[in-house]
Amino acid sequence: MDFDLPESAAAVREGVLAIAREYDQEYWGRCDADKRWPEEIWRDLVRGGWHALAIPAEHGGGGQGLLELSVALEALAEGGAGGAAGFMYLLTPAFGGLTIARHGTDAQRREFLPGIAAGEIETCFAITEPDAGSNSIAISTRARRDGGGFAVSGQKIWISGVERADFMLLVTRTIPAAEARPRTSGFTVLLVDVKQAVADGTLSYRPIPKLGTNVVASNMVFLDEVRVPADRVLGEVDQGFAVLWDILNPERILAAASGVGFGELVLRIACEYASERAPFGKPIGANQGIAFPLARIKAQVELARLMAYKAAWLWDRGRPCGSEANIAKLTAADAAWQAADRAFQTYGGMAYSLEYPVARMFRDARIAKNIPVAEELVLAHIAQHELGLPKSY
Ligand SMILES: Cc1cc2nc3c(=O)[nH]c(=O)nc-3n(C[C@H](O)[C@H](O)[C@H](O)COP(=O)(O)OP(=O)(O)OC[C@H]3O[C@@H](n4cnc5c(N)ncnc54)[C@H](O)[C@@H]3O)c2cc1C
Repeated sequence: MDFDLPESAAAVREGVLAIAREYDQEYWGRCDADKRWPEEIWRDLVRGGWHALAIPAEHGGGGQGLLELSVALEALAEGGAGGAAGFMYLLTPAFGGLTIARHGTDAQRREFLPGIAAGEIETCFAITEPDAGSNSIAISTRARRDGGGFAVSGQKIWISGVERADFMLLVTRTIPAAEARPRTSGFTVLLVDVKQAVADGTLSYRPIPKLGTNVVASNMVFLDEVRVPADRVLGEVDQGFAVLWDILNPERILAAASGVGFGELVLRIACEYASERAPFGKPIGANQGIAFPLARIKAQVELARLMAYKAAWLWDRGRPCGSEANIAKLTAADAAWQAADRAFQTYGGMAYSLEYPVARMFRDARIAKNIPVAEELVLAHIAQHELGLPKSY
């Protein structure tokens, strides 16, 4: 398959890199230590419209697509943000912007997209439940008909960015799993007004103490008869799976872009150290034991980038991209983790010092293999869809 990276993507890369380079690792280290959103650089991105690239121009966005959004995220990660970039581009630009642009009604697009483009509306996405992570079909959060709208009760887990979000894309069941035929029917995606529900006392949340990715909290969310009007259904009632795939595939593609940029950043940091550190009089990077693993990872990063771009290009054209999205996510997340692991090795004992960014990157890169979809589930998809092997679950 042929595809060309549009010139617009090159401009996006330069624009976002220029902003990212203004923020050094001390900045990212402070955000991480203080467990706070990188508000300053987020505002810079919003001012330049770099977060709203995939929102149609008529609604105040850049009128571009997932490819440009992926290039922006990659540049942000590579320019210094590392693992933080994924959350910055997924929560509002992708979950809110991209999904409402593709699946929103005209009224929803007019209500939400200009606010997202202006940086006034933020979103988060809630599908995972304590008993339904990899197996999304098993979710039990129930939206029952209530007058003209819905009343939603249930529990979600690991929901990132609830504390900032104005609206939550909430995945519910309008038909319980046991009664749904086929099993993928009976899902409904709702746009929940988070702040209103908190004020009503029907939605509460609690951050989960976690190892890293500290620029955003990831939360337990409790829903108790949250009222949602009928005009806040995204897509069709009971047919939410169609919307869901247009959230989950872009999520995987953007996670891949994040892994590519993160991998580049970690490689750069490792190579800088390997070029300077000379315990035996010559830089450690002159030793093939240090250089070759880094070179191999560079090759993996380059390949993952191509697959991420291809997957985004397909998605922008409304073409199937499930395998490409999964392959991109698998290879990019693994490359980022390998890079962080080898950077850790390259730094020797200093890897363990919190004065350097390597320890933070080591822990933040590790989770990329498990989220937003775990490596095993990606392999199961490839085995089934690309190799024709029997379904394993
Ligand atoms: C920091 C963080 C942020 C997150 N943010 C969000 C968010 O904003 N919104 C949201 O909805 N969710 C979020 N999540 C949840 C995340 O998407 C899930 O954790 C992820 O999908 C894995 O689900 P699980 O943890 O339930 O693992 P499980 O499904 O319990 O799986 C556990 C392990 O078993 C393996 N496994 C399971 N089934 C099979 C099988 N059939 N074959 C082989 N292996 C299998 C998995 O690969 C995994 O390694 C976040 C998670 C984290 C850690």
